Amino acid sequence: MTGLRGKFSAPPRRLGCLALAAALFAATASLGAISVLDTYYSPRNRERPARGSTRFIILHTTEGRSRGAGAKLSRRGEAHYMIDEVGRIYRIIDQRRVAYHCGRSMWNGRTSLDNCSIGIEMAGYHNRDLTAAQYRALKDLLTEIQAIYGVPDERVLCHSMVAYGAPNQWQRRSHRGRKRCGMRFAMTSVRARLGLTAKPARDPDVTAKRLVVADPYLHRVLYSGSATEQAQAAAKYLAKETNVIGPGRSAWDIARDEYNSADTVYVLPDGTRKNGTEIVNWRAIPRGTKVLLSEGDANPPEQVRTLGTTGATPASVAGDESLSATTIYVLPDGRCLRGNTLTAEIIAAMPTGTRVLVGYKMDGPITSRRRAFDICGPCWQEADTFYLFPGGTLMSGNTVDAGRIPRGTMVLFKN
Ligand SMILES: [Zn+2]
Repeated sequence: MTGLRGKFSAPPRRLGCLALAAALFAATASLGAISVLDTYYSPRNRERPARGSTRFIILHTTEGRSRGAGAKLSRRGEAHYMIDEVGRIYRIIDQRRVAYHCGRSMWNGRTSLDNCSIGIEMAGYHNRDLTAAQYRALKDLLTEIQAIYGVPDERVLCHSMVAYGAPNQWQRRSHRGRKRCGMRFAMTSVRARLGLTAKPARDPDVTAKRLVVADPYLHRVLYSGSATEQAQAAAKYLAKETNVIGPGRSAWDIARDEYNSADTVYVLPDGTRKNGTEIVNWRAIPRGTKVLLSEGDANPPEQVRTLGTTGATPASVAGDESLSATTIYVLPDGRCLRGNTLTAEIIAAMPTGTRVLVGYKMDGPITSRRRAFDICGPCWQEADTFYLFPGGTLMSGNTVDAGRIPRGTMVLFKN
């Protein structure tokens, strides 16, 4: 057991084959009386500096299910803890180090809050309630962390309270409303269930005119003094949420500052998909375009081409090799197929979002007896070796954590 009140805790030990599967589900650390899982312990830990101070705890919502969210948070080192739908607590970045969870942030004139805060991600959505198990787990975790760092209730904030946006084509001034992340954690009713009795009565940076309010509904959820008014504003938020661009509903309204991110995918009415980095003229996005958040891969490796983005077709990606055994097609649902098992008709009908690797061998799956090294030798941790996890996530060999590759993962490596 690793006590988190002491020095930096060691990264999880390398475990023998037999222990590996069990270890993925077993607590390997503890925080006071709380068990903490290391399933998503981030490989980024070693590169993160120690945090100088801890003035705030910032609560987030993952906007997706825990499984995908956990892998992503781990890969990028974007939180200290995540609590899944059934209340299990996962440690991602050691709580004494800096995690990048707030991005552009400000509170009472202080900026870059990652340097002075602990970030907790709750699996779920900004406009949905937590599960009862999540309430219990979060309450326990907050009690423990607040005691360790002496953080009072009024400094337990949510991401939407501290995030702010720089001026853009929709907002002329620096503004609040960049994120809706975790907004329900400002509601009096939600805080009461978490044992939090005090909260900020107003936005200090709006009061000081450093920022303007870009989202009045959100502002009411965060700061209305009446629980009824908060609930009404939150409900309205839920009702008006649609991910389709139309009159009075811009890309910014839907995606906020993720509007131009590679993670945000736009599905045009004709079926074309583009990610946020591929759109040049934001005024020309047709009505009826659907916006999918957190769908793209923020850093698509260049060896992996995705059909449907920037006009990529099987012909343009694989050319003469489209029917070759060394051209691998990874379908959006995670199935992978070699070109020589397909026909030209099937390939032409591949769904948008299919990832294609040319000049690759595919072998596996990884089992307790057959590890990455056994499959592809020393190239197992190269940037151009890829691991296809059972859920369809594709991870590069230089970011994958060898101790945490799930059984059933296939390995794709240069021929
Ligand atoms: Zn957040």
